[in-house]
Amino acid sequence: MTHLDGNALAGLFDDTLGIEITATIGRCGSCHRTFELARAHAFVTAIGAVLRCAHCQGMLAVIVQKPDEVLVNLSGLAYVAMARPSAGLRSRAPYTPV
Ligand SMILES: [Zn+2]
Repeated sequence: MTHLDGNALAGLFDDTLGIEITATIGRCGSCHRTFELARAHAFVTAIGAVLRCAHCQGMLAVIVQKPDEVLVNLSGLAYVAMARPSAGLRSRAPYTPV
């Protein structure tokens, strides 16, 4: 099965979890490498999608779309890191020497 890059799941993650996957960093629970989830390998089927590590092909996330609910398994991720919405505002604060 041919894979896409993680960007292919941007809309699905945003609709399901409210997470912009292209702006997140994840750590693979299998090989412990840290990388942009947009670079992971996405496999899309009619009922959902699987996100696999680009380094070890370990499963990072599975999303299954049922008629009345969505099942999300993120157990393959050690963590996901994302900037806080206010982080951009803080970084623009003027520097005040002490
Ligand atoms: Zn991995």
